[in-house]
Amino acid sequence: EAKTQHHSVEEYKASDNKYSVVRLSLMTELRNAIENQQLNLFYQPKIDIKTGRISSVECLVRWQHPEHGFIFPDDFIPLAEQTGNIRYLTKWAIETALIQQQRLLNLGFNLKMAVNISTVDLIDLNLPPYVAQLLAKYDIKPQMLTLEVTESSIMSDPENAITALSMLKNMGINLSIDDFGTGYSSMEQLKRTPVNELKIDKSFVLELANSPDDIIIVKSITNLAHNLGLSIVAEGVENILSLQKLAELEVETAQGYFISKPLPATDLEQWLTANKG
Ligand code: C2E
Ligand code: CA
Ligand code: CA
Ligand code: CA
Repeated sequence: EAKTQHHSVEEYKASDNKYSVVRLSLMTELRNAIENQQLNLFYQPKIDIKTGRISSVECLVRWQHPEHGFIFPDDFIPLAEQTGNIRYLTKWAIETALIQQQRLLNLGFNLKMAVNISTVDLIDLNLPPYVAQLLAKYDIKPQMLTLEVTESSIMSDPENAITALSMLKNMGINLSIDDFGTGYSSMEQLKRTPVNELKIDKSFVLELANSPDDIIIVKSITNLAHNLGLSIVAEGVENILSLQKLAELEVETAQGYFISKPLPATDLEQWLTANKG
């Protein structure tokens, strides 16, 4: 334990097997971390490209670990999924998001909140009733909550995913397929999956303006989505050229560092006040 204290966050990459012991001990700590308030949500605004207005906020978890410091989700979410602990994290994230959403509403900002959920959550039959209960508790309309599910997690178990997503969709919740374009779903699969939105993976957006291939891919995905009655969000918008290209391609919503990095709650409130109207 003492030896590991000196390693930086960079050394805890999920892909790095050398630190599997450290990562396993992190997992036993995750539930305590939730109780001890070491987890925090950061909030990244999404804008409506046509109007330039903020329409929504994505919630992204961060772990402030007492010994290892600031840990990014890619370094503990995959293991939390393997151990099943992700269920606790997801429930905490949804509740935290709705509390913040209610607070923003009281400050005069009526924004959708988007929370990431994983494969494990899709087979948790407690999730839909739990979400219903929270929406009632915080008096939030289901249309104001978006759940983002990655394309690959849907594809890992399509039958169960479709069942769970149908329950959530019937409750009026917005559903989005995250990292779209990286998970090999077929047209047939897409047609059967009850969602409202496709979120184009950032790998197609980062260099959009300079990449003829990416332009063709984003254009095709956008046409497909619109023909199926779905809306499009592009993530990873890091420069104005990508944003202009997305506007040209009639993508509805943009998210990325060019607009704002993910922010702690207080910074988000300041940012919203500064960018009002
Ligand atoms: P994601 O859902 O695809 O989230 C987008 C990631 O891209 C975030 O990384 C975000 O900070 C980053 N990003 C945003 N704008 C830009 C940009 O302009 N350029 C670049 N290069 N990156 C950008 P983050 O916060 O490290 O999260 C990584 C992944 O961890 C997320 O990917 C998501 O799959 C997962 N994750 C985060 N929070 C949660 C959570 O509460 N629950 C679950 N199940 N997964 C989560
Ligand atoms: Ca996401
Ligand atoms: Ca994504
Ligand atoms: Ca991702």
